[in-house]
Amino acid sequence: MNKKLIFVLLLIVIIGVSTTFLLKGNKNSDFLSTDIYSMNTIIQIKISGRDKEAATEAIINEIYFLNGKFDDFSQVSDVSRINNNAGKNPVKVDKATIDIISKAIDCYKITNGAFNISIAPISELWGFKENVYKVPSESEIKQTLNFVNMNDIIILGDKVLLKKIEEAIDLGGVAKGYTLDKIKEILPNYNLKSVIINMGGNILIYGDPERSSWLIGIKNPRGDGIIGKITIKGSKFISTSGDYERFFIENGKRYCHIIDPSTGYPSDKIISVTVISEKGYFGDALSTAFFVLGKEKSLELAKTLNVEIIGFDENLTPFSTERIKKDLSFEEG
Ligand code: ADP
Ligand code: MG
Repeated sequence: MNKKLIFVLLLIVIIGVSTTFLLKGNKNSDFLSTDIYSMNTIIQIKISGRDKEAATEAIINEIYFLNGKFDDFSQVSDVSRINNNAGKNPVKVDKATIDIISKAIDCYKITNGAFNISIAPISELWGFKENVYKVPSESEIKQTLNFVNMNDIIILGDKVLLKKIEEAIDLGGVAKGYTLDKIKEILPNYNLKSVIINMGGNILIYGDPERSSWLIGIKNPRGDGIIGKITIKGSKFISTSGDYERFFIENGKRYCHIIDPSTGYPSDKIISVTVISEKGYFGDALSTAFFVLGKEKSLELAKTLNVEIIGFDENLTPFSTERIKKDLSFEEG
């Protein structure tokens, strides 16, 4: 069996993505591999099947289109226009923007507030927007938390309004997963065998469960290489959130880019969590939320939501839902 494994190493060190893959079987695979930079990350697209060229082109167009709507660095994106008009005017946006914000509001409710796209003013206070990090004072955090309020995101038909001028939204915790959902919707238009797309820690795998089986590596959050592997069949989304991609250390303490909305501080209950889900946006939002919630609450919520998770605490001790255990293996040492 092992001999048949084809190792498709996705340049884990060079581009710093959080995963690595093994493709089982299919020795003469004819994958077309394309890397692009969008959504603030390197995106790797691998496709096999007759229409791989046309599908790759359609996928890239979809990514650029949605990035144009969600990217808060571009002043003309829907998100920037919403933020720049906060406290002033409702802004007409694309239907995808209405859709993703509505889904983000659902995720806020489902996660008891752990997933919160109105966190942007706090992320900015800590310097995560401009990458000029600092630990703010207690009073600055308290003051800024007044402008983190999901109830102040008002959807009026095809327009969005934030109630207060100081408020802003940030789709960074859900945009990549949502984009993978939109990509998955167009794939049936093409004659394809297997598709794997890695968008900076958010992965879509797509294919016939009888013919394609993937071994997904989980990056070691505190070292090089991988710490464990998950076998996954058929079409699924895999999303990882961790404290090792964007963080700074001050006085020996690590502060990462995922903020606990209940305190205004970077979350530090766990160091990495991976979610396997049937919907990309859901897995993406949930991995961010589970990172905030920590081990016990995440395991409880994952059970009720019927998603599988595997996470690690600061001692690199793993925790996971029951059903995924048979598909997991861990590296020695
Ligand atoms: P990444 O996008 O880095 O792979 P995540 O999907 O976990 O990782 O998203 C983290 C991003 O989500 C942050 O960079 C920030 O933009 C945003 N964010 C931070 N904290 C929260 C939160 N509690 N809820 C929703 N979004 C958050
Ligand atoms: Mg996320």
